[in-house]
Amino acid sequence: MKVLVINAGSSSLKYQLLEMTNESVLAKGICERIGIDGKLVHETEKGKHTTESPMPDHAAAMALVIDTLLDTNHGVIASKDEIKAIGHRVVHGGETFTASALINDEIEAAIEAVSDLAPLHNPPNLTGIRACKQHMPTVPQVAVFDTAFHQTMPPRAFLYAIENELYDKHKIRKYGFHGTSHKYVSQQAAELLGKPAASLKVITCHLGNGASICAVDGGKSVDTSMGLTPLEGLAMGTRSGDLDPAVIPFIMEKENLTAAQVIDVLNKKSGMLGLSGVSSDFRDLDAAAKEGNKLAQNALDVFAYRVAGYVGRYAAGMNGVDAIVFTAGIGENDTGIREKICAYLTWMGVEIDPALNAKRGQMLDVSTAAAKVRVLVIPTNEELVIARDTKNILGNI
Ligand code: ADP
Repeated sequence: MKVLVINAGSSSLKYQLLEMTNESVLAKGICERIGIDGKLVHETEKGKHTTESPMPDHAAAMALVIDTLLDTNHGVIASKDEIKAIGHRVVHGGETFTASALINDEIEAAIEAVSDLAPLHNPPNLTGIRACKQHMPTVPQVAVFDTAFHQTMPPRAFLYAIENELYDKHKIRKYGFHGTSHKYVSQQAAELLGKPAASLKVITCHLGNGASICAVDGGKSVDTSMGLTPLEGLAMGTRSGDLDPAVIPFIMEKENLTAAQVIDVLNKKSGMLGLSGVSSDFRDLDAAAKEGNKLAQNALDVFAYRVAGYVGRYAAGMNGVDAIVFTAGIGENDTGIREKICAYLTWMGVEIDPALNAKRGQMLDVSTAAAKVRVLVIPTNEELVIARDTKNILGNI
């Protein structure tokens, strides 16, 4: 069974075609600059192929993706009918979605109804769903939500300490994101440790350009660092993460900005980029810090300190922890930042082996034999989770 996975952003559309009999990736790619001009980069085992072609909207991008998948030179399928299902990444499911869902008119309307919680993300996700419907009207489509895994959080973790009426009226609360990744790596951790997920307390650190941490107790999310939106929590590539809310009107007044402009600054010009003035990319920050750039060093210090702080908080929240997992671009590759974070955690029984920690890009336990808390590096695979959920939902109908 072949499943097409779609991740539609405001001006981009990422795709992956998977053969689910052996969970192999047949092709993957990205359409960029949709609505501007249009570029598609398509990758198969034969290599990379780039097409520059006008893409006025997501439907046009989808048409090009299908043509490319069918292409005699770069394609991997002979007919559109080989695509048996489509799985979509949908960022916000609000409190409505606690699991993935087969898309029909009601589900589409429900995704639309929670769009005010994620105005930058859900509308493009819906555009992707509609573009697929237009080109493949009979193929079942499934929505997989970034927030769904975190719907098991108890009120003590998801409530903000504000007037309860604001929660009742507007559903203002912590939702959390990166759910597919936290779910996947926590399950992989259980497999690597050879223990049932139900018996483990795991803290998963998804450290990419966007970064979040999750406390997973018995296979269920019980707390996570992102909030109503992905702005809360860790300091990230360009996002500030946690700050005193009073900072916002203060910046508005001092810099003569609107609330929307300040939020834009906190999302796009803050975090590692804002602190260092160098870059949001950890490779650049590591290099600059090595050359003595103090601001780049400050940014790395803030990042590591905050990650370690959240790990401590979640260990307290779960009254213990068996394993800490590092994943995503930084978590999987930046051995220096892992070392820096773990140095704060020796009190709880974390001890990593420098030789093991120097390895990259594979699933491994980097702790010493004596360590009481295991530190694991596990590459994430959000597309695979989306494809698996899609297949499972179709198997159940
Ligand atoms: P996202 O999916 O949120 O865009 P990724 O999970 O792909 O992000 O992570 C991207 C980030 O990972 C880059 O911005 C960079 O900071 C970091 N990164 C990738 N490779 C390395 C590396 N070899 N060393 C250090 N950091 C890396």
